[in-house]
Amino acid sequence: MIGLISATAAGAAARDRLAAAWPDRTRVYDGPVREAVRAAFAECDRLVCFLATGATVRLLAPLLDDKATDPGVVCVDEGGRFAVSLVGGHGGGANELAREVGALLGAEPVVTTATDAVGLPGLDTLGFPAEGAVAAVSRALLDGEPVALEADFAWPLPPLPFAGAAGSAHVVRLTDRAVGAGPGEVLLRPPSLVVGVGASRGVPAEEVIALVEGALADAGLSAASIAHLATVDAKADEAGVVEAARHLGVPLVTYPAGELAAVEVPNPSGAPLAAVGTPSVAEAAALVGGGELLVPKRKSERADGTPAMATCAVVRRPGRGRLAVVGLGPGARDLLTPRAEAELRGAAVLVGLDQYVDQIRDLLRPGTRVLESGLGAEEERARTAVAEARRGRTVALIGSGDAGVYAMASPALAEASDDIDVVGVPGVTAALAAAALLGAPLGHDHVSISLSDLHTPWEVIERRVRAAAEADIVVTFYNPRSRGRDWQLPKALGILAEHREPVTPVGVVRNASRPDGTTRVTTLAGLDPASVDMMTVVTVGNTATRLIAGRMVTPRGYRWQEETP
Ligand code: SAH
Repeated sequence: MIGLISATAAGAAARDRLAAAWPDRTRVYDGPVREAVRAAFAECDRLVCFLATGATVRLLAPLLDDKATDPGVVCVDEGGRFAVSLVGGHGGGANELAREVGALLGAEPVVTTATDAVGLPGLDTLGFPAEGAVAAVSRALLDGEPVALEADFAWPLPPLPFAGAAGSAHVVRLTDRAVGAGPGEVLLRPPSLVVGVGASRGVPAEEVIALVEGALADAGLSAASIAHLATVDAKADEAGVVEAARHLGVPLVTYPAGELAAVEVPNPSGAPLAAVGTPSVAEAAALVGGGELLVPKRKSERADGTPAMATCAVVRRPGRGRLAVVGLGPGARDLLTPRAEAELRGAAVLVGLDQYVDQIRDLLRPGTRVLESGLGAEEERARTAVAEARRGRTVALIGSGDAGVYAMASPALAEASDDIDVVGVPGVTAALAAAALLGAPLGHDHVSISLSDLHTPWEVIERRVRAAAEADIVVTFYNPRSRGRDWQLPKALGILAEHREPVTPVGVVRNASRPDGTTRVTTLAGLDPASVDMMTVVTVGNTATRLIAGRMVTPRGYRWQEETP
């Protein structure tokens, strides 16, 4: 029971909303607050006090005894803006309650205990079944107690702070075996098993179900880990197979006979070849996505001794790793997208340049393995990220701005194979961040050109600058200038100047969106290259770009130019 205590009219209004939403979980304690708190503390397992934290602390102080048995207490301010987990965050359930109350009242939950503050995912929220001591082991993880992970095979998981050695009191066992959970143990059942099924026309569902269940039982495998049943397209509507999949609560996936015929199997046969055009259905359909054949083809048994109408085979498919290539934006935290943030929190392995890792380290969950390296190690970072994903892990590879723009996405995808999932999360590029500061310089066609001749011969860069100059395209120069690479920017500006007026507006933005950022607007003739460094982008307008009220504006069309004398 949750005891509710309030002192003022505003507090009572919020209290009544809670009481109305949770009539069976809450009890209102009226009367003088000191007595109300004392009574609720004795009778309830949790309290919500609609009082200032100071007042609540004073009322609770003489009552507090042992964090293992005291009720958890949440404080909500009179304005209903914050739900503060005050005491009993973990054991008393106050952290959880603060979140629930916050969600209900539209208040910000305030949780100050270390592990909870970074929000660990619950073991029952991983997207597949968890059996056993889920609550106790989740709590142990939250409390920072040692929890051992014992995985029968690699499977992508979000970051969890597994620290326990084998033999810990708390164990998370990732398995598809038909074992029961021991005390202090959680069994995670990832969808690792693919069951291939072959069937004759008119096969009864019971025959398929008995065959599959028998095969799993004999092999010591758990039906909770079945990902799907798989068969040939021709059997997509075979009622007995469809019904068996429904009975097992898994999808039925079908493949064209030609695709199955190409899969190498240990037990091909002439019968399915004649009937549906592939020498194997059960084994081939189970193996089509790769994996280990745990149960080779076996046939159903019929009580009356008539020929079997179903075959099945069971494969453990490899856990597919996931590589997210995540753009962090130009620097400011509020220019990092929510999707990028979610990927960072969900990554078990984070790979990136050390200075970019520093930018987002506070967002990582405990248990995230960080593989950071210094400037220049690009290829190695790409290889590492892909290798980690191929080991079945959830990996985020980070880059500033957009990770696909002069950054990690292309070296990584050049290394990647089709045995991992790859997702890209777009980011706000330096060019876009700079443009927003300058005004609207990219209002018409524009390009980005990197002036770094580290990976690209200068002739190629120059040809592209010339093409942009001739085509009157707005240009943003990346990597414009560094120590020891100082002649390229003047040279490129000179090429543009052959086709644009000396007064063409040029924007110089250094450290866009970062605390020490600067934005300047000058002209093609007026730009001092020495004022530009590697933290800068330089945006050169086209022949229509104008300065309006100090802002760079490129019109969307050329009518403006015609109208301007
Ligand atoms: N992937 C990044 C670009 C990386 S290349 C993006 O999409 O923006 C590195 C170059 O980007 C730097 O030399 C600089 O020219 C530019 N750059 C990156 N961040 C910047 C920022 N905050 N302000 C100005 N220029 C920046």
